[in-house]
Amino acid sequence: MKDLLVDLKSGDKITVQVGNVIIGGEEKIFISGPCSVEDYDSMLTMAKELKNVGVNILRGGAFKPRTSPYDFQGLQFEGLEILKKVSEKVGIPIVTEIMDTRHIDKSIDLIDMIQVGSRNMYNYSLLKEIGKTKKPVLLKRGMSATLSEWLYAAEYIMAEGNENVVLCERGIRTFENYTRNTLDLNAVAVIKNKYRLPIIVDPSHGTGLREIVPTMSLAAIATGADGLMIESHISPDNSVSDARETITIKSMEHIIKRIKSRKLY
Ligand code: PEP
Ligand code: MN
Repeated sequence: MKDLLVDLKSGDKITVQVGNVIIGGEEKIFISGPCSVEDYDSMLTMAKELKNVGVNILRGGAFKPRTSPYDFQGLQFEGLEILKKVSEKVGIPIVTEIMDTRHIDKSIDLIDMIQVGSRNMYNYSLLKEIGKTKKPVLLKRGMSATLSEWLYAAEYIMAEGNENVVLCERGIRTFENYTRNTLDLNAVAVIKNKYRLPIIVDPSHGTGLREIVPTMSLAAIATGADGLMIESHISPDNSVSDARETITIKSMEHIIKRIKSRKLY
């Protein structure tokens, strides 16, 4: 079998540049923001506050993959326009999920990094089309994907010429249902040991419980993760989606301070 681009024997460790942020380098990077983009004013307030506490990249879903078709599906292109305006005003890069190949052309200039969500990790046409762009990609792990299936998904993007791929461990489905998912930190250790791609951890979807997000954030960094993606909100209980796992901006600030001062326990 041909060597894979993701393997360390195929080349050096990859670093991915998003705006002026380098993922996979010396510095740990922090991505945060609400689960969904809700409106311009709240997004602007959150972006300013998050940037102030040291968040490097702003997140917010415009296209939302919801379990029920009757739940809020996101503001879609209006959401992308909001993200773009906020990004320019505050001076912070944006990552957001694109779910459909038909949306790539219209979205590409509005965002700095494309998120491929857990439900789309196996969408090979989407992966190939994203691979034809040079945009940085945040590739979330499928909720029941093995490590090698996830790495092959990354390979699909890279084989098309786009090596700007960052993996995101977001928990897998197991028999355990106290937590929303089971955060697989083994995956982080394996990727850092044997593969070229940077990897960040999403303890929000990985746990589903805001009270353990700080602890699992520190654990992820101790395991070697290059950064974190955490859902936060100015008023977490009023988030339109994933309120239960969403933390305050103050709590985000604590997590960043602990990690920067290397107080991991
Ligand atoms: C998200 O990050 O908002 C999201 C939908 O995550 P996932 O694809 O991991 O479920
Ligand atoms: Mn969410």
